[in-house]
This record gives sequence, C-alpha cells and structure tokens, in this order.
Amino acid sequence: MFFHGTHKDLIDSIEAIGAGFAVYEHLPTNNSFILVSCNNLYEDIIGKQKEEALNSPHAAIFPRYIGQPMLQTFQRCKTEQLALESEILIEYKGEERYWRSIISPIRESKDGRFRIIQTCVEITEKKMLERKLTISMKRFEAVVQSAYDGIITIDSTQKIKLINEAAQQIFGYSAQEIIGEPLTKLLPTKYRKKHVGYVEGFKKSQVDSRPMQTRASVRGLRKNGSEFPIEVTISKIKLGDRIELTAVIRDISEKNRLLEELLITSQEDCLTGLFNRRHFTKHLTAEMLRFKRFKRPFCLIMIDIDHFKEINDTYGHECGDLALTELAKLIKNSLRETDRVGRWGGEEFLVLLPETLLQQGLEIAEKLRLFSGKMKLQYENRTVSFTISAGVQEYNNNAVKIDQIINAVDKCLYRAKSSGRNQISAEK
Ligand code: GH3
Ligand code: MG
Ligand code: MG
Repeated sequence: MFFHGTHKDLIDSIEAIGAGFAVYEHLPTNNSFILVSCNNLYEDIIGKQKEEALNSPHAAIFPRYIGQPMLQTFQRCKTEQLALESEILIEYKGEERYWRSIISPIRESKDGRFRIIQTCVEITEKKMLERKLTISMKRFEAVVQSAYDGIITIDSTQKIKLINEAAQQIFGYSAQEIIGEPLTKLLPTKYRKKHVGYVEGFKKSQVDSRPMQTRASVRGLRKNGSEFPIEVTISKIKLGDRIELTAVIRDISEKNRLLEELLITSQEDCLTGLFNRRHFTKHLTAEMLRFKRFKRPFCLIMIDIDHFKEINDTYGHECGDLALTELAKLIKNSLRETDRVGRWGGEEFLVLLPETLLQQGLEIAEKLRLFSGKMKLQYENRTVSFTISAGVQEYNNNAVKIDQIINAVDKCLYRAKSSGRNQISAEK
C-alpha cells in the first residue's frame, strides 16, 4: 500500500501541508479507481474514516453528482497522462465546502498498475467571497440599471465606462455607442473646455461628492444635437491610485417647463392674460415701497365696463368674454412698457402708472375711455360696443396703505358711475 503506515516522515509532512491528499489505483477489471491511500484531511473532505474508505472505489466514496464527473477526469488523466484541475463542491453535514482538486498521473509502476495522486485544497472562503462579490455586483447593477436618474461613470481620462438605461434614454445613445467615448460628447460645445477643467479640479479636491454649480447653467447634449437642462451630482471613487467619477443626472426640461407654467398660471388671469389680482398687488406694493424711498408719485386707474351685465344678457356670456379680452388688449397696447395692468375682478381692471402725476394719469384714462368707446366688436354677425368708467388716484403720501388707495380709487370710479358713466373721475 502506498505511503500508508510506512514512511512516517513523509506522511507527517503531507499532513502538515494543509491539503487533502489521496492516491487512487486503477482497477482494470471494472475500470474503476480504488482509494489506496489518503491523509487525515482527506478523511475530512470525504466525511469518512480511512478504515471505511480505503480499498473502496471512488464511486462509493463520493456522492454520484461528484463521482460521475470525477470518473471522467480520472479516465482522461489516465489516457492522456495529464494533470487536471477541477473544483468540487461537497455538501457535508449541511455545510457547503469547495475544494480545488488537482489530479496527476503516477507513471505506470513496475507492477503495471496505474495510480493517480489527488490533492485537494479548500477554496470555500474564496468561493464565498466570489459569491458575495457577484451578489453585490448584481445588486449594484440592478440598482444602477433600474434607477430613475441617469448614471454615468467616467475614468480618470474622462472617458465613459458605464451608462445606465436612464442615461441612455436621456441622451439618446445606446451603451455600445457611447462607452469608451469622451464625456464631452454629452455636453454642448461651449461648455466642454470649462467642464474638463472642472472635473480635473474636482478630482484633486478634498470633497468626495458635490452637486454641480447652479441648476440652470448645467446643460446636456442629446445625440440628435438638442440641448437640455440637467441637474448633476458627481461623486469620486478612489480605486487604489486611480480615480473614477460617477455622475447622477436628471433631465429637468420637464420640471423647468412645469415651473414656468406654474409661474405663469400663478401670475396671469387665464381669460385676459393680464396679471391676476395677487400678482398685480405685488407690483403695487413694490411701487409703494419705491415711493417711500424715492418719493416718486404714481397713478392708479380703476376701470369698469358700463352696463356689462347687459352685454352678457343680450349677447351671451361668450360675447361678454370677448369684450373683456378685447378691452384687456386695448388697455395693454395703449400703455408704456413700464405700466402694469391687472384684472381686479369680473369686469374691473387696475392700471398702475409709475412716475406719473394725476394730470398725466387722467389723460391716459381719458384716452382709454375714448378708445374703448370706439371699439366695435363683431359677434355672431352683430356689432357690439360698450363704454367704460374709470377712477384715477395719485399716490403721493407715505402714510396711505394699500387697502386705502384701492378704496380711494374705487370711490372715484363709483363717482364716475353715479355721475352718468362713460366718464373719468380723479382725485389727488
Ligand atoms: P355698471 O355699469 O354699474 O358697472 O353695471 P354692470 O352691469 O357692468 O355691473 P355689475 O357688477 O352689475 O355686473 C357685472 C357683471 O359681470 C356680472 C357678471 O356676471 C359679469 N362677469 C363677471 N365676470 C365675468 C366673466 O369672466 N365673463 C363674463 N362674460 N361676465 C362676467
Ligand atoms: Mg360694470
Ligand atoms: Mg363691476
């Protein structure tokens, strides 16, 4: 028997290696391989005592799922006289253990028997680490790929290494098209130089993560050549002496569009497009503050359509709306750019004339009265016309509050109405 019970020194050194070690002998009668010798660690691998395993064919030692492929490698080793390496997974007492098996042929001995030496080194820990790494890589990939935001990684030369689904959608490139290309391809030409410098600076900085500049100034370039606003946060990953940068990108075109829409709807009256009451009040307040500081008087005109109810009643609400929009246009087009117009209520409008004294305010109101009186609206083959009344007030007193000036101009308007309509009433 090989080694077994003899050459004690040799056996001791084999035990000390920390590897399982066994010798199999080929049995030509049934073409099997018999375990003829092994060390203690090998007992541990196969989960059997030497006494029980020695002289047994390998098929009786190992479970079928290992025995079968093992037989094939043993046979290959025999026919091709080759050393062969493989990995074996053995479940032992509910625990999975991985071994790297190396089998090498022993030259045919004088007795004509063919033997194989098998060395097994445990690689469970390495396998487990590999498995953990695979799991975390897969997890990372799943998170990156399914992220709502675009994610792009660049290497130290600013070439693209990774681009997720969302970023491909945002920029219109497929991963194959853009991986390996310089990052600048995704930026409008005028920002490229500055951006390269910015990234280089960030690489050297102490900070590991930062949002890029102000939102509006960062822009991307799609494959189709269109530019769009983006929000970017970049992070640095140090890989030994190399640095990789990862950018999380969000296309904010839609957000900006909605913000703009929201801003407009929060300021505009939807029928006439003039400032709404809230926004007009802001301008009026600002102008009052300006008076406090610079003592620049301004005028406020309140306009109301005369007998507007009759227009609605005679021609219908739609015709009333037409009168409102046409009057709004007329007022707006008759004023200076610095003047402000708002729709105060149903058919009431307020006009703010900065740097304007009462006399001039009156003239403007008179002009508006004349123009609107001459307007001829065409509605369902009928000609509709109307007149307006207006109150004008000059603001020249610090102590007056916003409600007071509105009330005062409203009173002027009321006077114009009660004096017969289609006229202006003013007060200083
Ligand atoms: P006065 O000469 O005293 O100002 O009389 P008036 O009929 O113009 O005034 P009144 O306040 O009695 O009527 C205003 C009408 O404006 C009543 C309301 O139904 C109508 N109105 C308010 N908002 C709108 C609107 O958006 N569209 C239309 N078509 N009518 C409106
Ligand atoms: Mg009216
Ligand atoms: Mg009214």
